Amino acid sequence: MLEIDGAKGEGGGQVLRTALSLSMVTGTPFRISNIRANRENPGMMAQHLTAVKAAKAVSNARVEGMREGSTELTFEPGVIGNGRYFYSVGTAGSTSLVLQTVLPALMLAPGPSEITLEGGTHNPFAPPYDFLALTYLPALARMGPVVQASLERHGFYPAGGGRMKVQVQPVEELKGFELLERGDHVRTRARALVSNLSMTFAIRELDIIAQKLGLGAGDIHPESITGNDSAGNVVCIEVEHEQITEVFTAFGRRGITPEEFAEEALTESREYLASTAPVGRYLCDQLMLPLALAGGGRFRTVKPTRHAQTNAEVIAMFLPVDIQIARLEDGSFEVAIGPQPA
Ligand code: ATP
Repeated sequence: MLEIDGAKGEGGGQVLRTALSLSMVTGTPFRISNIRANRENPGMMAQHLTAVKAAKAVSNARVEGMREGSTELTFEPGVIGNGRYFYSVGTAGSTSLVLQTVLPALMLAPGPSEITLEGGTHNPFAPPYDFLALTYLPALARMGPVVQASLERHGFYPAGGGRMKVQVQPVEELKGFELLERGDHVRTRARALVSNLSMTFAIRELDIIAQKLGLGAGDIHPESITGNDSAGNVVCIEVEHEQITEVFTAFGRRGITPEEFAEEALTESREYLASTAPVGRYLCDQLMLPLALAGGGRFRTVKPTRHAQTNAEVIAMFLPVDIQIARLEDGSFEVAIGPQPA
């Protein structure tokens, strides 16, 4: 039984989610304490609890401590199954983070699966649906499995109420890959989504972004979302190169002007646009786990976050891999994952 201190590094929910994913796939039981110790409201929230429930079902696990607010959990996985799964976070908690917890196991399951998740699809501090669909899933596709997601309803923070459906066609083994260059620039698009808010917000936001990034009228897309009772405003800047599309998102909230909000979206993309690295900072921490499961891989990225460092530490507890992060002369970083030296 692996003992994990949830206060490690970042000390957030990612330590728990990474441990769940790897425990399921490697069959290693673990006990975690101090869950989310570095957060203002420690312990498992609805999103983490839903991730544990989904992980339990997919890996037929025996679990202790599975309740909201719990700071300790024991997880003993059984055999990975496949089939149809449905989970509702119940709040605006991120459906993407729940999906990412069980996806490694479903990608290596004995047969195809379909998972439907309800909750937040566009919340701050989590991968928004657009990032999942345009950046994360295409990166996983390089490893062999076919994972197709569809957004059935948007769920904005704080109301939630979104729904996504994901079909997974597994493989026996994941293939590692190298992603060192972006390739030629294809296009940059900016989209502003508004739900139950005036389109003028979207238009004002996009005007500023278009001006600052030099985008033409065909590259900006104001969109009004229907079918959702709650208010929401999200801006996505999609930077497409031959080898990768990266998505940078800002989330509107009460009291912020469209101009300030547009500036936040631009700030999100600035580091990536100033670099030549293909992998942005969020994808960097999210790619380590699947590449470690594949036995190795290499990518070039902007400066890795504390999340990435923490993920590397948790991965090393479960898998005999070596993760090296090196700063290159041009200021970008190379992450190399390979077998541990003998
Ligand atoms: P908590 O402790 O509240 O559960 P956490 O520390 O686990 O939170 P975050 O630090 O907010 O969660 O990030 C969780 C994951 O979401 C990370 O893998 C990060 O890369 C990803 N993420 C956060 N924001 C974005 C974004 N705008 N686009 C893509 N991915 C994101």
